[in-house]
Amino acid sequence: MRILTGGFSHESNSLNPIITGEDDFVVLRGGEITENSPFSRHSSAGIIETLRKGGAEAAPTLQARAVPNGVVSAAFYQKLKAELLDRTREALRQGPIDGVCLALHGSMKVQGDLCAEGDLCRSLREILGPLPFTVALDMHATITADLLRAVDGFAGYKTAPHVDSFETGVLAARMLLKSLETGKKLYTAALSIPMMVAGEKSETAAEPMASLMGACKKLEQEGLLAASLLLGFPWADCEHNAVTVLVSAFEEDRAAADRGARNLAETFWRRRGEFSFRTEHYPSRDALAAAYKAVLEKGEHPVFVSDSGDNPTAGAAGDATELLEEVLAAPAQLERLPTPLLYSGFYDAPAAAACLKAGEGAELAITLGGNWDTLNGKKIPFNVKVEKIVRDFGPYHADLVLVSAAPPGARHRNLLITVTSKHIGFGDEELLPALGVKAEDYCLVVVKLGYLEPCFRTIAARAIMATSRGCSNEVLESIPYQKVRRPIYPLDKDMEWKPD
Ligand SMILES: [Zn+2]
Repeated sequence: MRILTGGFSHESNSLNPIITGEDDFVVLRGGEITENSPFSRHSSAGIIETLRKGGAEAAPTLQARAVPNGVVSAAFYQKLKAELLDRTREALRQGPIDGVCLALHGSMKVQGDLCAEGDLCRSLREILGPLPFTVALDMHATITADLLRAVDGFAGYKTAPHVDSFETGVLAARMLLKSLETGKKLYTAALSIPMMVAGEKSETAAEPMASLMGACKKLEQEGLLAASLLLGFPWADCEHNAVTVLVSAFEEDRAAADRGARNLAETFWRRRGEFSFRTEHYPSRDALAAAYKAVLEKGEHPVFVSDSGDNPTAGAAGDATELLEEVLAAPAQLERLPTPLLYSGFYDAPAAAACLKAGEGAELAITLGGNWDTLNGKKIPFNVKVEKIVRDFGPYHADLVLVSAAPPGARHRNLLITVTSKHIGFGDEELLPALGVKAEDYCLVVVKLGYLEPCFRTIAARAIMATSRGCSNEVLESIPYQKVRRPIYPLDKDMEWKPD
């Protein structure tokens, strides 16, 4: 058996003015996907390993990934798609293709309101005709009619924070191989629920997601191939935004799949009021006040504060400054901290470039923030000392800088800030260690992140979420959506809904 593989992954935040382009993507081509892929825990790796174990040959096209950010450049998307389709035609010339299994995100948006995954899969279907076609998706996938028509079987992540990307690839590939080995056709039951869920309300360790994901697993244990809850992506103003229940099965189990999808959808809707933040959360000023109290009065250490409204791993710009401004507005508290406040961090290419040019040990004046998210950020002046520089970090080749910073005129530099040259996010467990920083050594750590990634959660004495302003604002009711279809929960709190 010969299976076409590849795909692209991007979570596109349409509230962020950055246009994600070629420089932001890592693109693996052909054998780079199947041999020593740098994305060894991604669904694409799970697909390749499953095909290999199943004795199937992978026909790799290209696999593109970028960190969540603003929508993708139309010119770059068309170039990428054209190459993927060219590689598909070339694979066809080399021999017959029996099936398709792609690793996609599901919420990649292109300039001009194009939903990339549906567009790509429809074009692939036109080239390849009627063969079994499955995909692995992120839990925050947005499901469009194009995608549903083109694809036979779907598998979505079941964990948030996402730790089962690889396993989701395994599930998508197994479903395809089972269909090919048995000759049984795939069927997917789909139900769309008019609802959006703020990212930080969807943790799967907490209710109601824990039980809902348990119900998905139960359907799979009962013999259906894959049951998924795709939550959509609330920080894209898109007419397709919704929660979608997808239950994939063999055609002969159609009735059970329909029944399972309906039960899941009804339960999801019935429990809509239970989605809530798991961590204590306050507006920025109150979040900082609670953190200072925990550190200075109770001696808790380290206390984490998430700057959740500007979370680059949810596609926000990474340079909003509301929370930083609140830090600077209380200098007496900052100076009382027994260790510097560690702020990780800011995506600020000009500041990073100035620090790189000055070199380690240099002192200089820079501004931080306000390059992109000018609605929620402004350029804040600092006098900094460059403590550490790391060049070419990680698969996206970012430069990292650690600075100790003081606002002009301040006496102390009791603030340590990480600055990145590229928009890579601050949830990476290797980022701070690369800069020689151990988060546990600091009593107060602010991260541009929503729920804490496991690397921080395991060391946090206390986790506080600031519902700060930015392009990943957790308070969906305050976002001025224009394209999202109404009514939709929670924007329209009193609406009623039933599955068709
Ligand atoms: Zn996601």
